[in-house]
Amino acid sequence: MRKQIAAANWKMNNTLDEGTKLLNEIVSSDMQVNDNQSVIFAVPFPFLINANQQVSNKSNMFVAAQNCHNKTSGAFTGEVSVDMLASINIHYCVVGHSERREYFSESNQTLAEKVDRCLSKSITPIFCCGEPLAIREDDIQNDYVALQLKESLFHLDGEAIQKVVIAYEPIWAIGTGKTATAAQAQEMHAHIRTVLANQFGDAVAANISILYGGSVKGANANEIFSQPDVDGGLVGGASLIANEFIQIIKALK
Ligand code: PEP
Repeated sequence: MRKQIAAANWKMNNTLDEGTKLLNEIVSSDMQVNDNQSVIFAVPFPFLINANQQVSNKSNMFVAAQNCHNKTSGAFTGEVSVDMLASINIHYCVVGHSERREYFSESNQTLAEKVDRCLSKSITPIFCCGEPLAIREDDIQNDYVALQLKESLFHLDGEAIQKVVIAYEPIWAIGTGKTATAAQAQEMHAHIRTVLANQFGDAVAANISILYGGSVKGANANEIFSQPDVDGGLVGGASLIANEFIQIIKALK
């Protein structure tokens, strides 16, 4: 089902004490998260179990891993499998964040495998796509993002793709303070939905949540989220400040 989603990406920030305090401030605030909405906290691996306990009696709040391995198990020192995530009741996982693509050389093909691993364990992949600045300057971002979707998601059937959340994150807007305009976000989200519709049909495409990521904050969330094809956001920096993230959650449709 297409939901409006505010997803926090803590990246490699916070100690356990700091993270526990931050999450507590957010989950104990007075906001209402409706059934058409989800709030997701992608926290570092060592905090997953604790964070899951903190949201356990909160409606429509969930915890996500920030990554998983593309193989099921084996000699991959330092890596984490989807079986491990499922065994501690994690139901979401960020897949293909641009930082993973850039610093850990994750390819569209590897990400297709990660998506499969997640779905095999009923973990919803939050699949990230988005173009670097040079591609935007050459005005070929639509083709670039369509290829990311094609190579990582088009092997799925119509039922499986509806279990994926997509996050469009223009790389030039991540952590830079430079946000895509609401019109730029809407234009790309509509394009992504058309690409999905051409492959899977209109009804399936209409049922998929597409989040925007890139310097979302309390002050701009309302305008961005109000766009018809924007179903919320994946938020880095502003998700580390309780009041900012609460404001972002309140901006969900
Ligand atoms: C992100 O890390 O996914 C992100 C969008 O970061 P920021 O909000 O800081 O730009």
